Amino acid sequence: MSLPSSPARPAGLPDRIRHWIGGAYADSADGAVFDVADPVSNTRYTTAAAGGPADVDRAVAAARAAFPAWAALGNRERASILVRVADAVEAREDRLAELESFDSGLPITQARGQARRAAENFRYFADVIVALGEEAYRVGDTQLNYVVRTPAGVAGLITPWNTPFMLESWKLAPALASGCTLVLKPAEWTPLSAGLWPEILTEAGVPAGVVNIVHGLGEAAGQALVDHPDVPLLSFTGSTDTGRHIMRCSADGLKALSMELGGKSPVVVFADADLEAALDSVVFGVFSLNGERCTAGSRVLVERPVYEEFTRRLAERAEKVRVGLPSDPATEVGALVHPEHYARVLEYVEVGRREARLVAGGGRPGHLPEGNYLQPAVFTDVPRDARIFQEEIFGPVVAVAPFDDECEAVELANATRYGLAAYVWTGDLRRGHRIAHEVASGMVWINSHNVRDLRTPFGGVKDSGLGREGGAHSIDFFSESKIVHVMLGEVHTPRFGA
Ligand code: NAD
Repeated sequence: MSLPSSPARPAGLPDRIRHWIGGAYADSADGAVFDVADPVSNTRYTTAAAGGPADVDRAVAAARAAFPAWAALGNRERASILVRVADAVEAREDRLAELESFDSGLPITQARGQARRAAENFRYFADVIVALGEEAYRVGDTQLNYVVRTPAGVAGLITPWNTPFMLESWKLAPALASGCTLVLKPAEWTPLSAGLWPEILTEAGVPAGVVNIVHGLGEAAGQALVDHPDVPLLSFTGSTDTGRHIMRCSADGLKALSMELGGKSPVVVFADADLEAALDSVVFGVFSLNGERCTAGSRVLVERPVYEEFTRRLAERAEKVRVGLPSDPATEVGALVHPEHYARVLEYVEVGRREARLVAGGGRPGHLPEGNYLQPAVFTDVPRDARIFQEEIFGPVVAVAPFDDECEAVELANATRYGLAAYVWTGDLRRGHRIAHEVASGMVWINSHNVRDLRTPFGGVKDSGLGREGGAHSIDFFSESKIVHVMLGEVHTPRFGA
């Protein structure tokens, strides 16, 4: 029997996670590696190649060489390959869940959904690229204008450690569908599941060099990708500070940027809401995926008449959330990804104790003496200038505050620098729409939580990002649009110098 502090170590872990460049595994040019640990024992279980400029250079060269043939494929052919990628991802559902849960600390039941979502990204973009037309405009009888879309070139994809494989698929699928070749730099805390891509892509028939993966630290491998002159576009998901830094570095090269950044999303609960449904959604929305979710509803604003009842019930539920080994199917919150991140979240709990009232959790559960575990924390009466109200914690910690009327609800909802998602719970749909329009965020859910159709735009405003992903928005990002103007009638030109 394994102790609660020992992770269920999957069979067949690699002794080394390597780059994948031009269709072959590769070590770093200088042989550098970094340690990779699991978040339950916090001990090293393998090493990964630590990429630098030379490795990124080789990867970009491979992507450039593969670009003309991949870009020239018909949309239907590329779509067929993407569908095969989806099949190959789905066939590895159990393996992916096991690796992801082990490496990132995600509860196994929640890791299981990631393969299906990742596969769906490929199926969806296969459909999009086949169905997508190009725009044409007729200007009376005299002119016809039409748009020609071409793949933008070698894309740089940089991804974070929360749900790493799924977020990689989110960028890989539209980039490939659009005809780009690419270099992916996965997050260094969770490089394990990215090791599945080479076999998946090879099995699906993606030609060598179309996808290249360079592992390594952000400031080395990531930075080299950002700085590479032959990478004209970067799709980044990660923290606002890193995003800002990447934007500064991209200015000289005038790179196209898609920035999916942090969040501190409000959930506004009105007294006339279905409180049971709202409570389920609040608990799930902020504590699922270990609270390491960019769209987590981490600020809960509750209308005064139901504030006491709602916070009491929220605290009761948080105390009962089952924290445990990520591999245990009964676990609802697993281990936070890394000791550094764990320490940061614990520090926020300490800050919160000084700023507001801790009414549930906030400590290490007694039955889990080791590993990055935290009983979900609920803070109430949180003032709007509190750090735990303003700053993204990215863990199972929620800040709750009361409001008196609709106007104050909107004001509080908008009182942070972030604007990714927002959630509204009310029995009055007209009010739900009003709030949805007034809240500054890229996405709003009324009487529901984070369920998203892949056709809809995803992204944030203010410090939560720039641009939208999803549906045609992603294809737009990975393509260049050229407009062709054709004269059908007589040309009338002022005759200068005639
Ligand atoms: P991070 O910014 O620390 O790292 C993200 C990626 O950027 C990693 O691969 C990292 O190696 C790389 N990186 C770091 N420094 C770099 C540099 N100088 N140049 C190039 N690349 C560099 O973020 P994280 O801690 O991995 O992820 C958590 C953050 O991601 C949270 O803020 C969360 O809200 C955000 N996130 C946003 C979304 C969204 O869609 N808006 C989705 C998931 C996560």
